[in-house]
Amino acid sequence: MNYKDYIADIPDFPQDGILFRDVTPLMADGDVFKKACDEIIAFAKEVNAEVVVGPESRGFIFGCPVAYELGIGFVPVRKPGKLPRETVSVSYDLEYGSNELQVHKDSIKKGQRVLIVDDLLATGGTVDATIQMVKELGGVVAGCAFLIELAGLNGREHLKEYPVFALMSYE
Ligand code: IMP
Repeated sequence: MNYKDYIADIPDFPQDGILFRDVTPLMADGDVFKKACDEIIAFAKEVNAEVVVGPESRGFIFGCPVAYELGIGFVPVRKPGKLPRETVSVSYDLEYGSNELQVHKDSIKKGQRVLIVDDLLATGGTVDATIQMVKELGGVVAGCAFLIELAGLNGREHLKEYPVFALMSYE
């Protein structure tokens, strides 16, 4: 089984010139979805993760099964205006456009080992913003896990200090 057979490549989405890697076929296949999550779970165990943090929305989809399997918490990172209690926030640049992310201020305990999970690492802006918030709250970034890394965009430059797992890599 090749994971890449379950990724749909969509040219010019959501803008001209962007080749969008669509993970929904992988999610829709029960065996492949489980295998992919199991690989992230193995990494989470290796880095002794104590809580999973996932940016919306596909970070929820891949992060929650990891947290559930390990019996640890899941903390959502969301776009502005979605979280109902006091938040910290960071603005960042996306592969296309810009964005702001927020997390609840009381969601991570001081010294807690955090695994950040998202579907895809592109420029690294999203994970970098997430790392900044985790650190602001006193968490320790134990590692970062992705289904897909777009290696040509050098997102790993933001992650030199941390263990990184990526199930698939594209140039
Ligand atoms: P970055 O911040 O540039 O690393 O972009 C990563 C974020 O944008 C992740 O949260 C992804 O969900 C989303 N993203 C960027 N490009 C793609 C893509 O080709 N497919 C799916 N998600 C993408």
